[in-house]
Amino acid sequence: MSMLSLATTAMPTSARRPFRRPQHIPPTDYDVVVVGAGCAGLSAALVLGRCRRRVLLCDGGKTRNAPSPAVHNFLSRDGIKPQELLRHGHEQLAAYPTVEQRENCVLQAERDEATGTFRLTLDTGRCVTSRKIILATGVLDVLPPIDGMRELWGVGVLHCPYCHGYEVSDRPLAIYGRGKSVAGFALLVSRWSKDVVVCTDGTAGLAEHSRLRLKRHGIPVFEQPIKRLVGLENRELHQIEFADGAVIERAALFLHPNQQQRTDLATQLGCYRLARSGGIRVDKRIQTSVPGVYAAGDTTPAAQQAVVAAAEGVQAGISCNEQLTREECS
Ligand SMILES: Cc1cc2nc3c(=O)[nH]c(=O)nc-3n(C[C@H](O)[C@H](O)[C@H](O)COP(=O)(O)OP(=O)(O)OC[C@H]3O[C@@H](n4cnc5c(N)ncnc54)[C@H](O)[C@@H]3O)c2cc1C
Repeated sequence: MSMLSLATTAMPTSARRPFRRPQHIPPTDYDVVVVGAGCAGLSAALVLGRCRRRVLLCDGGKTRNAPSPAVHNFLSRDGIKPQELLRHGHEQLAAYPTVEQRENCVLQAERDEATGTFRLTLDTGRCVTSRKIILATGVLDVLPPIDGMRELWGVGVLHCPYCHGYEVSDRPLAIYGRGKSVAGFALLVSRWSKDVVVCTDGTAGLAEHSRLRLKRHGIPVFEQPIKRLVGLENRELHQIEFADGAVIERAALFLHPNQQQRTDLATQLGCYRLARSGGIRVDKRIQTSVPGVYAAGDTTPAAQQAVVAAAEGVQAGISCNEQLTREECS
């Protein structure tokens, strides 16, 4: 279901709150703008809607797991389609009249230092103001430029054995990567299948003890460059073709791709506590280094799982509401 079809335009009487805006609180269009409506953003908006906060929830794209057929490890929703999980979230949010849901990208955000409020520009050109911002904008996976990699991403090319290892149990698997981390990743995946190989797509950069560990556990290393991945119609992996003409049959290839932040809103807002990966660091209140800016989900350096993103979204929603309350009731 599209977000637009759920958007509320005017607030019904039931959206009125039991308190007036105290004079010392600057007027804004919203209490909170939540940017991103994946598990993190939807959960944050749900908490805030239940607090009867005026919320704008904006999403201008697709969630990270959109190419995947199923979400796993999400209590009570194991195996649900990603789009179906989001649909439930949007539908349940529609019951809260103070939450406005929009299919818009937030292009710009700035903090008014005098009032501590925020001004955001949407892709329609509309500008809105808010007292707090929650960044739930996720990350982008940057896949190696190999034919077939992007096409099979989410089915035959996988990032996480905890999410999808069970579905390829006991099948022939490959691990893509180089250097220190690839051996550990291959040994981890070997808990799901005893037929695992490592493909380094060029010089392996493996320490001798890593090579020995892999050998001890019956995991061969293919160091020649990969030409392309050949998939089946259902986007499962079928074969890996190497530049030297060799071919191996594999049902799935796992890799840890590089990642980028989906937006530069955090840097626009002046968030300076960033991880080396670019992840936005938050404190125990889920607040970034800029007061009033919170971040939740994959955009922070914590574990990247849908249910963890949902939990962080809940924490961000609660933190925001408590800070708003402190300011109103000083
Ligand atoms: C192929 C694949 C399969 C996966 N499978 C699983 C699984 O089975 N189980 C599991 O637990 N995890 C899985 N994950 C991980 C899971 O997808 C993430 O942990 C989860 O999506 C993080 O949620 P999020 O809300 O932080 O980010 P996302 O779900 O990525 O949502 C971020 C949203 O923000 C929006 N956005 C970004 N910038 C802007 C902007 N400027 N304005 C407006 N909107 C914006 C994006 O369009 C997006 O919809 C998988 C990941 C991948 C890549």
